[in-house]
Amino acid sequence: MGDRIEFQQGRWIVPDRPIIPFIEGDGTGPDIWRAARRVFDAVVEKVSKGRRRVEWLEVLAGEKAFKATNSWLPEATLDAIRAHRVAIKGPLTTPVGGGIRSLNVALRQLLDLYACIRPVRYFEGVPSPMKQPGKLNVVIFRENIEDVYSGVEYQAGSEQADAVIRFLAERYGAKIRSGSAIGIKPMSKFGTQRLVAKAIQYAIQARCPSVTLVHKGNIMKFTEGGFREWGYEVARQRFGDQTVPEAELGPGKGNGGRVVIKDRITDAMFAQLVLRPDEYSVIAAPNLNGDLLSDAAAAQVGGLGLAPGGNVGDGYAVYEATHGTAPKYAGQDKVNPCSVILSGAMMFEELGWTDVAAAIIRGIEGAIASKRVTYDLARQLPGATEVSTSQFAECIIEHVR
Ligand code: NAD
Repeated sequence: MGDRIEFQQGRWIVPDRPIIPFIEGDGTGPDIWRAARRVFDAVVEKVSKGRRRVEWLEVLAGEKAFKATNSWLPEATLDAIRAHRVAIKGPLTTPVGGGIRSLNVALRQLLDLYACIRPVRYFEGVPSPMKQPGKLNVVIFRENIEDVYSGVEYQAGSEQADAVIRFLAERYGAKIRSGSAIGIKPMSKFGTQRLVAKAIQYAIQARCPSVTLVHKGNIMKFTEGGFREWGYEVARQRFGDQTVPEAELGPGKGNGGRVVIKDRITDAMFAQLVLRPDEYSVIAAPNLNGDLLSDAAAAQVGGLGLAPGGNVGDGYAVYEATHGTAPKYAGQDKVNPCSVILSGAMMFEELGWTDVAAAIIRGIEGAIASKRVTYDLARQLPGATEVSTSQFAECIIEHVR
């Protein structure tokens, strides 16, 4: 029997036997979850010498839930995740047809998971299109709730779109072509500052050199420009002793051990990540910029197959593989389990089990270096031996020293 994880005064309180709900996912989800759970249990046991153990609690979503309960997302699943605060999930099929709530949207709203966190780093040996992929090592904090993804959008020719166009024209003289579709881009100081504060807190704790605010404030002055201004403001007001704006770093002046806060225009940032990746560490971005940057950065280090992710709020977090269900390989014990395993490493790090997180990463580094890898990596790595999902998991465990 395990105990619940609690969150008090901004801190996780994690028992030695925490109960953590999991959704195994559809398609290849059960294959990769089985492998991931095997790795998590073995590493926790090894690192803590048997003192700690996760009590996994299965909760249903997706096809498995639909078969058992006739609902793609039973209320009981949402209740369990809310009660236990931290959960991990495999990929889910997006059912075709209307009226189905997406789990991610439901959880984001229910638990206010306002930061989507995506670490992007290179694992030695993974095929990459870049000459020096190891130079990229960033953690992207993407705002998860506001911006053009807030869902306030009206179809071209709809009553709502036409009413908004008319209102803006009559009241403010705005010129919008009639019959246009309309999307609203709300960005608040509150939403920006809690996201940027989370990124800065992470940078301070993990001893990262900088936090870069990525925005298109040269064009969208009040929304994206607001993101920049409010970001610098929260750095100054809440972390004044531990941060310094890049503009205040004169020639020959060091940063005095403080986290440097910089900002870059979105388009320039894409170029920078290709040309000078080692100048960036933690990145804080509004929703759309962050979405685009996350996948572009992941591609530089060898693709989405290895990319983990977490949706995090205050006292709640849900971690997930960032790829889909790869249905054609379902049940074949074939696909790469690294994305969900690395998401687990992020989860353990957030919960303060940093020794477990570090050991998982050592295991993955070792397994990839040994060139006994799943098909997706094996077909691109000269001299590699293809192994199954479960054999790859054993190989990861062997390399946890
Ligand atoms: P996908 O990510 O499942 O597949 C894209 C490609 O990547 C395929 O060639 C696949 O074989 C490969 N791939 C995916 N995961 C892999 C792994 N672990 N190891 C090796 N190769 C892997 O994307 P898709 O085909 O567009 O979507 C399939 C289903 O997944 C759809 O129902 C979609 O809605 C869903 N999906 C879910 C999530 C999620 O739950 N977070 C994310 C994306 C897509």
